[in-house]
Amino acid sequence: MNFKFENIDIIINEDLLNIFSRYIQDDNKKNEAGGILTGLIFNDRIEICNCSTPTQHDKRSRYNFIRSKITAQEFLETRFSASDGREIYLGEWHTHPEQDPTPSYCDVSNFKKTIKINKLYSDFFFMIIMGTRKLYFAIYNKKGKVCYDNLRLITDN
Ligand SMILES: [Zn+2]
Repeated sequence: MNFKFENIDIIINEDLLNIFSRYIQDDNKKNEAGGILTGLIFNDRIEICNCSTPTQHDKRSRYNFIRSKITAQEFLETRFSASDGREIYLGEWHTHPEQDPTPSYCDVSNFKKTIKINKLYSDFFFMIIMGTRKLYFAIYNKKGKVCYDNLRLITDN
């Protein structure tokens, strides 16, 4: 999946979409899922390549997902060293039990806090929310949201 933002090509690896799809909350028993996004930055291109998936350290319920800081940090360090320091933190993903997802107040404030507090190397960060029909995709810089869209209708079988 590709987006153009200003002069930057943003590429989301198809494997990630397959991973998100596995956690779609399409029945009442499925809790929210999520993790962090990592990827590579070039002059005119950002590739979102990998994501972490839920672990037993995350707090998951039907309407909430609080990811463990420790497992996210471990994932980040693993990707960083496996890529010789090229693959870095690029944002967060999680699921919502709604067709056309929109971020909650907490989603937005937590995300802004994460971007602000951490010493991060990207100019842009991504928030992805996987709904049961659509995917919410937002681009933030350190000042706030710069772009968002609700994309990719998930087709009925
Ligand atoms: Zn949320």
